[in-house]
Amino acid sequence: MDIRFEKSLKLKEKIKDENKLGFGTYFTDYMFLMDYDEKNGWNDPRIVPYGNIEIQPSAMGLHYGQTIFEGLKAYKNDGKVYLFRADENFKRMNESNDRLCIPPVDEEFMMEALKKLIDIERDWVPDSKEASLYIRPFIIATEPKLGVHPSDSYLLMIILSPSGPYYKDGLAPMKIYVEDKYVRAVKGGIGTAKAGGNYAASLKSQIEAEENGYFQVLWIDGVDRKYVEEVGSMNIFFVTDDGIITPELNGSILSGITRKSIIELLKAEGQKVVEKKIAIDEIMDLHKKGKLLEVFGTGTAAVVSPVGELFYNGEKVVINNGEIGKVSQHLYDELTDIQWARKKGPEGWQIEV
Ligand SMILES: *Cc1c(COP(=O)(O)O)cnc(C)c1O
Repeated sequence: MDIRFEKSLKLKEKIKDENKLGFGTYFTDYMFLMDYDEKNGWNDPRIVPYGNIEIQPSAMGLHYGQTIFEGLKAYKNDGKVYLFRADENFKRMNESNDRLCIPPVDEEFMMEALKKLIDIERDWVPDSKEASLYIRPFIIATEPKLGVHPSDSYLLMIILSPSGPYYKDGLAPMKIYVEDKYVRAVKGGIGTAKAGGNYAASLKSQIEAEENGYFQVLWIDGVDRKYVEEVGSMNIFFVTDDGIITPELNGSILSGITRKSIIELLKAEGQKVVEKKIAIDEIMDLHKKGKLLEVFGTGTAAVVSPVGELFYNGEKVVINNGEIGKVSQHLYDELTDIQWARKKGPEGWQIEV
């Protein structure tokens, strides 16, 4: 399929101080769009000026949450632009599509479309330290009908947002509230899909955690209310005196690409990493015995995010004196070096645009 290009008559002013970019606030000059209908399948791929879109008020996605999204970044180093494992994002996009009854996309074509968009927008990829271009592909159901059923038409979009460093003052440990009231997802639900509805379900809990001085919540499973799942938009790892453990993909956790990359990096270094069911009580117990050395979250936005404090059931657990641990710092450095191509990564991880 040929990708149509509609030139913008007026380009935007770029933000000079990249430290002021924040996250997800500014958008570039262009966006990618593609339609789906039953007769033509995915069709009319186009790169057009960023701006408002028109959908009917009865569009199904607005009512019943039939939407999915992805999140990844483009990194600039020495004038060159790189994507990190973007093929994994399109693979996961199709897994989310499958769960939400959205027709699959051609993963190779999506990669081509993304590269073309990034190529046009390469000047928008920030080049100051730890700033990057956040990429948001997403799909919404557009059939104008209120009956509940899978939509017969969709709109796929990719928008780009130049974003500043996640940590303005360097890597800093976060305080996490272990959520024992609300549930994000359950096995058999849509927790494994990157779907907007999962985030809608998390807002109430997030606000209450913030009111109590916590940065994010750690979800525990919705069935037994015992096992650790993930943090906000991050997967979670525990460094113990006997290796590193992380919750196994149990049917309600989102399978993070950062998670997968961290596991692969650790294994390549010969470190012990075990994916398993982890009870929150096991974590509290390890802490009491002095065997919980570090805790960190992993996700595209923050890469590796050390946890300095956990609050569970009235108990405050300070981890590694509230400081950044050696393993967290090492993994953060290692992965960001690969993402910015300061170092050669495993085969296929760095995709030059
Ligand atoms: C996107 C996301 C993650 C992290 O996935 P990455 O591919 O590493 O960015 C973790 N949990 C949830 C709920 C997410 O939506």
